[in-house]
Amino acid sequence: MMLLQEIREEIVQYGQKAIEARLTKGTGGNLSICDRESGLMAITPSGIDYFKMTPEMIVLIDVQTGKIVDGNEVPSSECDMHRIFYKYRTDIDAIIHTHTTFAATISCLNWPLPALHYLVAFAGVDVRCAKYATYGTVALAKNAFEAMKDRKAVLLANHGLVAGGANLAEAFAVTEEIEFCCELYYRTKCIGEPVILPNDEMERMLERFKNYGKRIEEHETI
Ligand SMILES: [Zn+2]
Repeated sequence: MMLLQEIREEIVQYGQKAIEARLTKGTGGNLSICDRESGLMAITPSGIDYFKMTPEMIVLIDVQTGKIVDGNEVPSSECDMHRIFYKYRTDIDAIIHTHTTFAATISCLNWPLPALHYLVAFAGVDVRCAKYATYGTVALAKNAFEAMKDRKAVLLANHGLVAGGANLAEAFAVTEEIEFCCELYYRTKCIGEPVILPNDEMERMLERFKNYGKRIEEHETI
């Protein structure tokens, strides 16, 4: 039995899902899960095709020290950018980093994503754009961590998107919804100026998303 086998299998599955959903291409992007019980994180290896990836190739790393515990492959170059969230945030147990077209487009302008659609609330009241730093560096990890405070996603200047969640399903949903909102932002900017939702409305959306799937009690009636 392989150490953290289920988690490693899940990462392989979601990597393929990300390719099929056109959220990443070839060997681009990286995914990870944090196992709080063992204090280990499991992350995709560097430069391996998602459809050739096996659970054995997923690298296990100690969240506190950054040392490799299991796996023969080289971990993703953005390993520290994943680890910093597991080390200092307790609400994030899975991360997906991608170079989706529209999020990368907005990131190349170094713009934040404003609340032009209520689905931005999948990530927060808005999505900030982290300051530029070279890929794979601790500086980039720190910039991303700083700009993602109180959010579940962050744009990386001239680079792409990071999305987090309590599990990979949530991180995947955040990636899809934020990419969709970045596309809307691009499209609205092509023909006019999008109307941005007020902060109190976005706060209400955040409350609603916490109770997603449950019935919301409204005071008003039709
Ligand atoms: Zn990247």
